[in-house]
Amino acid sequence: MATTLLTGIAELVTNDPAMAEAGTAGPEDGAASGSDRSAGSNLPGAGRLGLRTDAAVLIDGERIGWIGSAGAAPAADHRVDLGGRAVLPGFVDSHAHLVFAGDRAAEFAARMTGQPYAAGGIRTTVAATRAATDERLRANVDRLRREALAAGTTTIECKSGYGLTVADEARSVRLAAELTDEVTYLGAHVVPAEYADDPAGYVDLVCGEMLAACAPHARWVDVFCERGAFDADATRQILRAGTAAGLVPRLHANQLGPGPGVQIAAELGAASADHCTHLDDADVAALADSGTVATLLPGAEFSTRSPYPDARRLLNAGATVALATDCNPGSSFTTSMPLCVALAVREMRMSPAEAVWSATAGGAAALRRTDIGTLRAGARADLVVLDAPSYLHLAYRPGVPLVHAVFRAGTSPIVPSFPAS
Ligand SMILES: [Zn+2]
Repeated sequence: MATTLLTGIAELVTNDPAMAEAGTAGPEDGAASGSDRSAGSNLPGAGRLGLRTDAAVLIDGERIGWIGSAGAAPAADHRVDLGGRAVLPGFVDSHAHLVFAGDRAAEFAARMTGQPYAAGGIRTTVAATRAATDERLRANVDRLRREALAAGTTTIECKSGYGLTVADEARSVRLAAELTDEVTYLGAHVVPAEYADDPAGYVDLVCGEMLAACAPHARWVDVFCERGAFDADATRQILRAGTAAGLVPRLHANQLGPGPGVQIAAELGAASADHCTHLDDADVAALADSGTVATLLPGAEFSTRSPYPDARRLLNAGATVALATDCNPGSSFTTSMPLCVALAVREMRMSPAEAVWSATAGGAAALRRTDIGTLRAGARADLVVLDAPSYLHLAYRPGVPLVHAVFRAGTSPIVPSFPAS
């Protein structure tokens, strides 16, 4: 299998503290000491990034074969000099809704001029999705996938939830499975209009025939646990049914107001509680004490002009925090993880180091993956090369397309000239 050696890396984010060069990365509280050649090495959370300067990375087939100092690099079939750019693990977007049709730009514009966001807006997209052909949905998914890849996302989770019939949900998870291994069954996104008078009947459908049709194509089960969507009893019923069908729970929790979602997520061993915008002390403690990752989705607060989650409170309590896009046509129509990093730093007071960790290793934790989100020998060769000398530029230069190249499983779909010889 061909090997490619990447050299000329001004700053390498490995997310493996053991890989940090002596003196370039501090302890967990960021109180670094000694020589400080890496601009981002003194920040809170920088110790977790495992930063190296003057590094080289050997890509061996789909995997990383070796990481170390450029001067000690092994021979390779190809060499690529990155010319002093920063390299980090590919972004892991652990929360996205990509299977849909239609456009809600008018709703967005109305909201920006004063109308509040309500969960029922999902029904607009449900109608458009049901009416769309498979080809149309597939083309939309593919467009968003390519857009995300160009912004550095090498793993993306994808939910159903705009079909809400047995056939349309099964179609959605099948289409999602063409895109990613991280497919989530979200039949419990909202109660569709035809069940408005019988929400319990819809929950039974979600737990019964619809689950049976979707489970073979999915890894995860999710519920929009929110006032106006699904309450605590329905959420427990659906997650337990999903678990019995072999799926692992994750949850939309505490987005629009306080609620039971985070506690249920922790109680049922969910991989992640997503949004976490309205938390009380017991919610924060539940996240810190459980294995449930707190996934923050600042694109949703940005696009609905809502208060952001309190990331500092979660980090200070010791919770594992992930960042994801929540890409969907209603409340966060972005595939850009760099935007989420910039929002997390500017609006949620995460350090740039914390935000980058959460957008890579944090997302991997939310998907319970150990082969992605970190750069070390044996990991999947998913890397982002920035047109910048440091990961700091992701927040420092908001809105700028800084991604120079992307490798996914060792190949570079973004810059076709790679690997150069
Ligand atoms: Zn969502």
